[in-house]
Amino acid sequence: MASKNTNRKRKEKRAEVRAFIRARDGDNCLWCGKPMLFPEEGVNLSPEELRQMATIEHHLAKLQKKGDNIDYLALTHQKCNL
Ligand SMILES: [Zn+2]
Repeated sequence: MASKNTNRKRKEKRAEVRAFIRARDGDNCLWCGKPMLFPEEGVNLSPEELRQMATIEHHLAKLQKKGDNIDYLALTHQKCNL
């Protein structure tokens, strides 16, 4: 199915971007400066762990109107990315 394929590609792309930013910026949250969790795909997390998980923050990209330019993306906790 085409849509399923697209979803998987998008997921892989996201993991790639996350790995890139992690290598560049390290394991700490942009907003609170504390370490984030980087679980493997498909691992079952508790709600508390989910909140500690690293997620891609587009805030800076939006502010600068740079779209998805990776230079303006950062990682934050799920709970800090509001
Ligand atoms: Zn945080």
